[in-house]
Amino acid sequence: MENCLFCKIIKGEIPSAKVYEDEDMLIFKDIAPQAPIHLLLVPKKHYANVIEMSEEDAYVLARCIKKLSTMTEELGLSEGFRLVSNKGANGCQSVDHLHIHILGGEKLSDKMA
Ligand code: AMP
Repeated sequence: MENCLFCKIIKGEIPSAKVYEDEDMLIFKDIAPQAPIHLLLVPKKHYANVIEMSEEDAYVLARCIKKLSTMTEELGLSEGFRLVSNKGANGCQSVDHLHIHILGGEKLSDKMA
């Protein structure tokens, strides 16, 4: 997608603080962290959100999350973490390329909204 910020980051056209990359996904630091550790897991294939996600996309995303579960120690998340994916205006989604926020590094609020 030509004007998609995260597609540009995936292509290396915009710099990011990359922490992991494979054929399915990129994980990089959120530019405005809301927790001591705030990463974004971004599938390389562009689709805007979970509603636009195909069944094949869902399998890829599940593989990405499973892969993430094997990297918790090196990412500093061994004490736990929270995964969040915002969708649409009420969800406060600001980038229309599906992404999963990975939050951790301290005990997070027990309130989610
Ligand atoms: P959302 O609001 O759920 O769509 O999340 C988008 C996230 O992308 C926000 O947490 C932003 O801080 C983050 N973000 C925006 N631009 C960049 C960037 N250039 N590099 C890293 N994170 C970014």
